Amino acid sequence: MKSVAALLATAVLAFAAPMQAAPAQHVDTVDPGVPTQLPRTAVPHHYAITITPHADKFTFDGTVAIDLDVVKPTTSIVLNAASLTFAKATLSGRGAPVAATVTSDADAQTATFDFGRMIAPGPYRLTIDYSGKINTQANGLFALDYKNPEGVQKRSIFTQFEPADARRFIPSWDEPDYKATFDLTARVPAGEMAVSNMPAAASRSIGNGLKEVRFQTTPTMSSYLLFFGTGDFGRITKMAGKTETGIVMGRGNEAKARTALDAEAQILPYYNEYFGTPFPLPKLDNVAGPGQSQFFSAMENWGAIFTFERVLLDDPAVTTERERQAIFGVEAHEMAHQWFGDLVTMAWWSDLWLNEGFASWMATKATKHFHPDWGAEFGAVGAREGAMGQDSLHTTHPIVQDVRTVEQANQAFDAITYSKGESVLSMLEGFAGEDTWQRGIQAYIRAHSYQNTRTDDLWRAVEGAGAKGLTQIAHDFTLQPGVPLIRVGAVSCDAGQSRVTLIQDEFSADRKPGTFTPLSWHVPVRIGVVGGQPVTAVTSGRETEVTVPGCGPILANAGQTGYYRTLYPAASVEQLRAGFTSIDPVDGYGLVADQLALSRAGYQPMGVGLDFAAAIPASAPPELLSLGVGVWTGMYRLFDGDAATQQQIATIVEQRYAPVLSQIGLTPRAGEKPTVATLRPQLIQALGYVGDPQVNAEAKRLFAALQTNPNAVPGGLKQTWLGIVAANADPATWEQLHAMARNASSATERQNLYSLLGAANSDALAQRALDLALTDEPGKTVSAGMIGAVAGRHPDMALDFVLSHWPQVEKFVDLSARSRFIGRIASGSHNGDTIAKLQAYADANIAASDRKPIEQAINVINVRLATEQRTKSETVRWLRGHAAAAPASPPAPSPQPERG
Ligand SMILES: [Zn+2]
Repeated sequence: MKSVAALLATAVLAFAAPMQAAPAQHVDTVDPGVPTQLPRTAVPHHYAITITPHADKFTFDGTVAIDLDVVKPTTSIVLNAASLTFAKATLSGRGAPVAATVTSDADAQTATFDFGRMIAPGPYRLTIDYSGKINTQANGLFALDYKNPEGVQKRSIFTQFEPADARRFIPSWDEPDYKATFDLTARVPAGEMAVSNMPAAASRSIGNGLKEVRFQTTPTMSSYLLFFGTGDFGRITKMAGKTETGIVMGRGNEAKARTALDAEAQILPYYNEYFGTPFPLPKLDNVAGPGQSQFFSAMENWGAIFTFERVLLDDPAVTTERERQAIFGVEAHEMAHQWFGDLVTMAWWSDLWLNEGFASWMATKATKHFHPDWGAEFGAVGAREGAMGQDSLHTTHPIVQDVRTVEQANQAFDAITYSKGESVLSMLEGFAGEDTWQRGIQAYIRAHSYQNTRTDDLWRAVEGAGAKGLTQIAHDFTLQPGVPLIRVGAVSCDAGQSRVTLIQDEFSADRKPGTFTPLSWHVPVRIGVVGGQPVTAVTSGRETEVTVPGCGPILANAGQTGYYRTLYPAASVEQLRAGFTSIDPVDGYGLVADQLALSRAGYQPMGVGLDFAAAIPASAPPELLSLGVGVWTGMYRLFDGDAATQQQIATIVEQRYAPVLSQIGLTPRAGEKPTVATLRPQLIQALGYVGDPQVNAEAKRLFAALQTNPNAVPGGLKQTWLGIVAANADPATWEQLHAMARNASSATERQNLYSLLGAANSDALAQRALDLALTDEPGKTVSAGMIGAVAGRHPDMALDFVLSHWPQVEKFVDLSARSRFIGRIASGSHNGDTIAKLQAYADANIAASDRKPIEQAINVINVRLATEQRTKSETVRWLRGHAAAAPASPPAPSPQPERG
């Protein structure tokens, strides 16, 4: 029985007076159908925690008093605990207090509190004195070192718990279904600012240069959402209705936090209205920390979001236009979690997508609402393509997946959970209609506030709001893996109407059609003639007949909210390509991406996809140009080692895109569209990458100018120009970049520059970057990013290095990202030997249940090796045909107007 519902109304009102532990007559409030690593003998209701960090020694002391109900007679209570040591534990409640004997199990991440006698069901308090570690990567309580704007070395500490690291901070029922209230008290240096989910209730000096800060009681929530941070912080605030929104940052960085604060204050009222339930806490902070993680960039702790400052602060010296937009995006994502995740929480990690898919979808919605000129709808198609890349391989998994281990929970944070989740939600919103969908979401939030849910609770709410038939579609897309393929069959036109046959199949990038049994979905296909009114037909079974108004080129997935690929017959493809400029740009974007994916996977020749990339005119919107230039640089890379073919592709890039760059200019112009501002660095980067002499000369010139004038390059383009310099660096240039990294004035700029040291084409310099990464110089959270940068151009070298230095390298990677790090490093490889190395590593080091990231990396390399020959020869053929058709192309660079 879920008795938590009764707390709903009171919890919202209870902030002024700290909430007391829930009443005594509790039964087991945990759903027995939810997986757990803990025996269901007791349930927590309230934690009162006191923490004393010793930042200089990387340790902390803690005391916790847990109010709990024993629900079955037992002699012991088992809690999650990792890397904690216990001094004393006492159970009080009925009769004399009982001391417990504590046994820790490091592998299971549990501690067993044995009382030596049977404990009867009823309410108790378990008080535990313990100590733990402050880590150097973002797991549990962790430290980040940095230099403040005055150049003084500082250390801040923060917490990061999702999915399963609260157990490194408090012995606890560290699973999302065990919700409780939390009182946190922290003893910190008197000059620091301590931050938690709730505002401070009291603060007093306790001598020895320390103060004790007691925070107000949190609402009922999951353990992974608790937050604590302390350091030499500044805080800026703005009221948004009744809520104080704030950004907390290293003192001195206040001005850089304005963009984030404005976004936060703008988004909150919009969400209050959209969700129909106002944000229930008195304040909402976003806490910026220096450094980085290989696992996450921001975390939605309730009322105290944590975000790495490289993605939250707006620094004119380094922040690009795209990064500036991403500040809004990250706020919108983490703030959506305040409802989807924090107020209503998935019962178990199998349904993690309810958090992540939803927050991703909502962030796109908020961005489109407030910034319609940022092209967020194109970004959503790009994210869908990323998800389909993973989802079209047999190593994928369904959105709702089986999660049994902590490691599997870590691995669940992937493109399927986030981007396929987002894409499927967009498709379902389209099916339900915006209003019905929103009513369903509001009903879902109302019904499950302060509780836990499973995916079906959401479908029930939305179908209940009027979206008949939604659950069937939703099940097909969330319980099955994979990407539907809609084959457009015969098209006939009669009396101003087109009859179209849709044949359903499954798209696969690693299995040939006919060698596997395709899955089947109910797919809401939005289809029409170009320029006409599309209709939605839900496919079921193998063939579906659709009638659409109008005659002309047929286009499926109109609006690009569908999660499927479309294969057209040759005649339709030719019509679409010939009329490309009359297609809505978002559909054009989706079409190019779709056609290329079908070509790469062998459903049609490469030439079809390349024809579409070539159909993007210079006058296309910046988002399409960005896609196009990306396609050609990807092709250029595919031909690494084949200078002649690369030259042909370089000519395409230069002929098509140098004039565009010349037109928009090398430096930002007042009043230009934000999408133009994001296109510029991409064009510069692409032209630099394919060796455009003018862009490369300009990069050299700017680099020389930067040596004497740090403002020689606009901040938002610095990383782009330096990227070209870094790629082509000789040893002297590399050392100049190295000196810039050492002397960088902000943590973000420093990290950027150290990463660039890993981006050199030269093998010798790549090796130098790897060696430097192992030293203390870059900083504990910077080295992994350097190694990742080396892997961009030298995946095999980076992998060999990581494998032969793993004990040193693993210290630079968050625990939660370790199983993925190696696969990520290697996945760009073109070398068959890499597969054996990955397999050997997995066999020796990773439990069989947790090898998915390695299996995926191996599969990606296998698919590349299996298809590369075909895609290359078909591309060469296409290039030959187009060289013949083009005017005589001189080997010298084509004349280009002055760019400035
Ligand atoms: Zn998220």
